[in-house]
Amino acid sequence: MEIPPGLETTKRKVAHSDEHGFSDQVRVPNVIVMVGLPARGKTYISKKLCRYLKWTGFKTKVFNVGEYRRTDANAADAIHGANASFFSPDNAEALKVRTESARRAMEDMADYLNSGTGSVAIFDATNTTKDRRSIIIDFCKKKRLRCFFIESVCDDPAIIDSNVTDVKVNSPDYKGLMTAEQAKEDFMNRIENYKRQYEPLEESEHESLSFIKVINAGRSFKVHQVRGHVQSRVVYFLMNIHLLPRSIYLTRHGQSEYNAMGRLGGDSPLTEDGRKYAAALADFFEEEEVPGLRVWCSQKVRAAQTAQHLKPDFHTEYWKALDELDAGICEGLTYEDIQQRYPKQADDRATDKYHYRYPSGESYEDVVSRLEPVIMELERQANVLVVSHQAVLRCVLAYFYDRPLSELPYIDIPLHSLVKLTPRAYHCDSTIYALDLDTQEWTETSAQLPLCDSPRD
Ligand code: ATP
Repeated sequence: MEIPPGLETTKRKVAHSDEHGFSDQVRVPNVIVMVGLPARGKTYISKKLCRYLKWTGFKTKVFNVGEYRRTDANAADAIHGANASFFSPDNAEALKVRTESARRAMEDMADYLNSGTGSVAIFDATNTTKDRRSIIIDFCKKKRLRCFFIESVCDDPAIIDSNVTDVKVNSPDYKGLMTAEQAKEDFMNRIENYKRQYEPLEESEHESLSFIKVINAGRSFKVHQVRGHVQSRVVYFLMNIHLLPRSIYLTRHGQSEYNAMGRLGGDSPLTEDGRKYAAALADFFEEEEVPGLRVWCSQKVRAAQTAQHLKPDFHTEYWKALDELDAGICEGLTYEDIQQRYPKQADDRATDKYHYRYPSGESYEDVVSRLEPVIMELERQANVLVVSHQAVLRCVLAYFYDRPLSELPYIDIPLHSLVKLTPRAYHCDSTIYALDLDTQEWTETSAQLPLCDSPRD
């Protein structure tokens, strides 16, 4: 079987191939195509999926047709916002602009994938007609891209109303042009215009159709003809996420004896300062009153001691996956020791901190892969406090902050501080509480943690 130029192959023999001639064991770039009426969470899903796939190592990018439309210099309506009539199936002029925007996005998507820059592209548009989807399927076939549809179907008026009120009235199509009430009314009319031509996905519309239907924000699903690793990961992810409001709290353990000596890893207990932090953390959650809080702790002594004063009715679990990055032969050494004994290791680590693996130990990349079940479980749960370690929390934060993997090892997480993450429509709010050990007072800042000045630890 001919393998498309520039695509990686596995060493194993080809076993089965699909209707495009792609084997399950050939890495074919994937196009993920969103389908659904406006305000059904397509952009939300696109962004969230993109963040997850990037974090797991797939180069992924979202191509949002609305953004292409707004940068189309030939369409005055498109530049300055578009009212509901722009989306009417009877508006031939506007249809031309929308079709052209979709075409430009598709071409860019194919360039992104076929140049080897990316391996997954997410095509974020309504794609509500069979005709439009058929064009996309043919385009992908011609460009030798694997195509997977995600349709969000929602007929729950409460969800739609809150999507429009919370998100849509702030769209660049309306900002500064009308009041929130006018924007809401216009957006509801836009939905009605789309409904006039909407054809939900059907198995029979194309022989090679692969899709998942997400019904009423995950109350139920329909999955059809999933092909390959990326698609099955996408399905698994979508079946685990939810929209319920909640917060995730992250903290390193209090200062340990090894921290005080500048030594890496080990399993030492807390110092006096560390114990003060553990007590203050328990007081914090006494006051914060987080309903149903679950505590997830690493299996290291310093983490367990940090969590020990938390109320017993918080359900606590000890995860091996939350243990600190294993520094292998460098466990128990200081950075100065490493520089002296293993200068080549120190240099290699400084050159590529994300991929560098300690001999007999782990890399950040290894930690990300062992944390995947933790991230998936965090997605499924409500309020959770994670008590873990610097390298592990860098990996978790990079996911929620949507930071590139190259920056991940440099996120600065000071001891004796707590991060509260609250997921919003397209991002996560981040609040940092830093404890003054002497006064036992917390200082609160609404910001993401910055990158370190020193690239060493
Ligand atoms: P448009 O076609 O106008 O771009 P859209 O379908 O992309 O609309 P979003 O902008 O993603 O809609 O809507 C964001 C809102 O959708 C968020 O408030 C989010 O909570 C909600 N949401 C996320 N997933 C779903 C889902 N599966 N079903 C319904 N709403 C969802």
